[in-house]
Amino acid sequence: MSIAYRRVILKLSGEALAGSQGYGIDPAIMGRIAGEIGQIADKGVSLGVVVGGGNLFRGAWLEKQGTDRVVGDHMGMLATVMNGLALGEALKARGVNATVLSATPIPEVCESFTQRTALAAMERPGVTVFVAGIGNPFLTTDTTAAMRAAEMSADVIVKATNVDGVYTADPRKDPMARRYDRISFDEVIAKGLAVMDTAAFALARDNRIPIIIFSIHEPGALQAVLEGTGVYTLVDPGA
Ligand code: UDP
Repeated sequence: MSIAYRRVILKLSGEALAGSQGYGIDPAIMGRIAGEIGQIADKGVSLGVVVGGGNLFRGAWLEKQGTDRVVGDHMGMLATVMNGLALGEALKARGVNATVLSATPIPEVCESFTQRTALAAMERPGVTVFVAGIGNPFLTTDTTAAMRAAEMSADVIVKATNVDGVYTADPRKDPMARRYDRISFDEVIAKGLAVMDTAAFALARDNRIPIIIFSIHEPGALQAVLEGTGVYTLVDPGA
């Protein structure tokens, strides 16, 4: 099977890296995910990964503990930098070229994001890792993924989560919940389904970028999903 997408933005949540500990980076999980990401890049797909930070810090949690929200969001963005550096190293250890680009310049640590540097990196073989979110507080890395997908003219946003798609109800609570194979943007809004946060969803919809939701916990799922054979939900701007 081959991959029909030319350019892909993968949103990898921080939680996906934490494994069963629920916190930090599980080296075995990071290794497996880096291996799967590298395989996609090796197939010649132009692949960008937007990394989250929820396995370390989120501004909203820190605010509840008394931290100023903006400071907390900066901590969350710095958490994504650590995850992205770790992913970059795991990719390089597997012989995959990786360029880490930070939305907030930290030149001693990694290269800085501009649309030009990112487009150049996306044209090279290997993986471009986007860190520090968009660089502004009160946002998420879901919104970053939609923004980078629009800026990079990606064909699809692939969101790796803990659930293998979008369901009629929460599958952990409702045994009758059914997964959608394909759903339109309008249906997602009308039914009040949670796909990505509102800003991310609006950006993808306005730029007519499809969103795929799948579970990263299933080994081999990333490639299967991109080949169209795996288990996932496609939010289709053409539907
Ligand atoms: N964040 C931010 N601006 C951005 C992206 C992220 O302020 O553009 C902060 C925010 O506090 C967020 C945290 O970084 O909670 C980690 O990102 P996110 O929650 O999206 O991580 P994920 O859930 O994907 O692990």
